[in-house]
Amino acid sequence: MNASPESLIRSEILAMSAYAVPSSAGMVKLDAMENPYTLPDSLRREIGELVASCEINRYPDPSAPALKRRLRMEMKISDEYDILLGNGSDELIQIMIQACARQGATIMAPGPTFAMYRQYAVIAGLDYVGVPLAPDFSIDLDGFLSAMRQYRPAIVFISYPNNPTGNLFSADAMERILTEAPGLVVVDEAYQPFADGTFMTRLPEFQNLVMLRTVSKLGLAGLRLGYAVALPDWVSQFNKVRSPYNVNVLTQLIAERVLAHGGVLREQALAIRVERAKLASALGSMSDVIPFPSEANFILARVPDAPLVHEGLRQRGILIKNLHGMHPLLDQCVRFTIGTPAENVLLIEALRAILNTRGVAVADRVG
Ligand SMILES: *Cc1c(COP(=O)(O)O)cnc(C)c1O
Repeated sequence: MNASPESLIRSEILAMSAYAVPSSAGMVKLDAMENPYTLPDSLRREIGELVASCEINRYPDPSAPALKRRLRMEMKISDEYDILLGNGSDELIQIMIQACARQGATIMAPGPTFAMYRQYAVIAGLDYVGVPLAPDFSIDLDGFLSAMRQYRPAIVFISYPNNPTGNLFSADAMERILTEAPGLVVVDEAYQPFADGTFMTRLPEFQNLVMLRTVSKLGLAGLRLGYAVALPDWVSQFNKVRSPYNVNVLTQLIAERVLAHGGVLREQALAIRVERAKLASALGSMSDVIPFPSEANFILARVPDAPLVHEGLRQRGILIKNLHGMHPLLDQCVRFTIGTPAENVLLIEALRAILNTRGVAVADRVG
């Protein structure tokens, strides 16, 4: 046998690194934008009964009518638009890119942003252009419009609020991009439950707008369910790329049932927003930490030494995300997912301890 990965696999895949998920057993998990709360016992029992009676010997209904009806109601999606369901919104990003992967096509996004836009573009053999944000993480509109004129992107992805910076871009800038884009603009609202703005209500104004949402950050990350909303002409094309049974029967059943009790998740999102304000002010009170404003369930912060903070927290049993080195604008930045009140207190105490010890270490060296 003469085959080896190097002889068979495309060079851009060989050059990629796999999406790394650190082991989190026994850790306070503040790295992945999960909702830290569990569901009420009564609802958990309901889910148990549903699962027990589910016909797992049958393929799921690929059109998922009950779940789509529930999403329409809960998320106020009008009948003029179709819904595309995905195994997480990740899969929908891949489906849309794959469907538009003509020879030489370009995918574009302002950055730093969600890493999977680039990853799926590369996997599809497309060019990816990340247009740098301004230092305050707003869209550099002139820069973005001129990059759009130069590269004519098939799809522009805009994370709204943006991961990992946490801010909402200005609606004016978004409108200009939607108006001048030569192709689709996907507005990825993974963090919408924690934000004050949405473009869902703007669908009638822009025929090239695709709204992307997920139930992951809302509290159902383990189910893997994302949805895209757009004009039927777009959705019917994307549907051809989707694998027929991509959303399994348990996900369909459980998501429908939990969304029928949507108030539970909305209350949890509200609690997370309250905790976000508390964590932001605690971080802001630390002399050497700069937290950035967030409309999401995480806070980006600049610290004196991001790798040291990340490792110090890990040793104290707290997992966060170190973003240092990922993008020039993320120099010495870390991202804290909002946890429960108790978890956030642990985080702040540990952070204080790490930064104080560091202060001493630096003073020792100087002295
Ligand atoms: C987390 C995240 C997603 C992916 O969510 P899943 O539905 O869990 O695949 C998509 N976009 C952004 C911006 C995210 O942060």
